[in-house]
Amino acid sequence: MADRVIGAADLEARLAGLRPVGLSERGTNRLAWTVEDAAAGEWFATQAASCGLLVERDGAGNRWALPEGDGPWWAVGSHTDSVRDGGAFDGALGVAAAFAIAAAAPELPLAVVSFADEEGARFNTPTFGSRALTGVLDVDDVLARRDDDGVALADALRGAGVAPEGLREAPAALGRLHGFVELHIDQSRELEVAGAPAGVVSALAARLRARVTLRGTADHAGTTPPEDRRDALAAAARLIVAADDLRAAAGAPLRTTAGRILVEPNALTSIASGATVWLDARAAAPDTLDTWLAGLEAAATALSATTGVAIAIAVESRSAGAVFDADLRARLRAGGAPALLCWAGHDAGILAARIPAAMVLVRNATGVSHSAAEHVELTDAAQAATMILRMMEDLA
Ligand SMILES: [Zn+2]
Repeated sequence: MADRVIGAADLEARLAGLRPVGLSERGTNRLAWTVEDAAAGEWFATQAASCGLLVERDGAGNRWALPEGDGPWWAVGSHTDSVRDGGAFDGALGVAAAFAIAAAAPELPLAVVSFADEEGARFNTPTFGSRALTGVLDVDDVLARRDDDGVALADALRGAGVAPEGLREAPAALGRLHGFVELHIDQSRELEVAGAPAGVVSALAARLRARVTLRGTADHAGTTPPEDRRDALAAAARLIVAADDLRAAAGAPLRTTAGRILVEPNALTSIASGATVWLDARAAAPDTLDTWLAGLEAAATALSATTGVAIAIAVESRSAGAVFDADLRARLRAGGAPALLCWAGHDAGILAARIPAAMVLVRNATGVSHSAAEHVELTDAAQAATMILRMMEDLA
């Protein structure tokens, strides 16, 4: 029995049914609460039936494939939604692998879970389903959101057969789980560089998002002498460079990005009166973020004094990251797989705050993800799935 392995052909056969759903020449489009999402649900039901599992949807729209009985069960899974023009493996691979594991070991009390709206691509609600399941989703906040077409999230939920009032009841389903393991495409080249087909995530990085608002004065681009200017865009540029210099000087793993900027009046012959910059920072340890943020505030104060531009930094969101279960990690690494820090957010990280959770990543030669170009070798994915199967056999 201990010699059972997951095969690449098994994964390919399962993925083949999901791959065409939402596929165009630009990539995979399976946004939450859409017809493509519903079609992915039909694929999920077919897979569950082939494994002899019963399909349920909880109050958050998460899809469960369950053995007979009341549980609690160990669960394996990921998500089937995608970003816009995403790839074929992010999320889908983890759900397909979960069904392969359940099919290979029908005697194990194993459930498969596909979390709703992991990407949050439509309503800016990432890890929606896992946050609802663990009771940390701000229900009033998300229900007020609208997508780019003006559709309210509550209406989108109803359209997808999920009652918005049920969101608050979603945590009741969490007690059915002993723990959760997610298999996912590596979104970096770390495993490729390490020469390993699979790795075990030790922790998800701590992260924060900050909005920096700069207030200057609009004036003529030609007639205003340098000493009379309060140029919000020039100050924003200096602050972006300062944020990156602070990152380089941190002396600890830290990644920062200035990914978005809005400028007023954004006119060719006007000095910018205002600029808003969004910064994303991620670190192995939360105190690295604290130190970086304190440095950024000091840089903003100094910049304000020299430029006359008022600068305010607001932290819009913050997460301490997640450390995965030590026992599960040790079991998964028994075969020698490397440990690695993961810089992205995942459902397994949300669950780790409440139940034992773990995550296995599959080598990605280019590191590309959230793109039609993302790719893994299914022989690598099969090895990663077999690591999870082995652990589930040991736990049973
Ligand atoms: Zn994903």
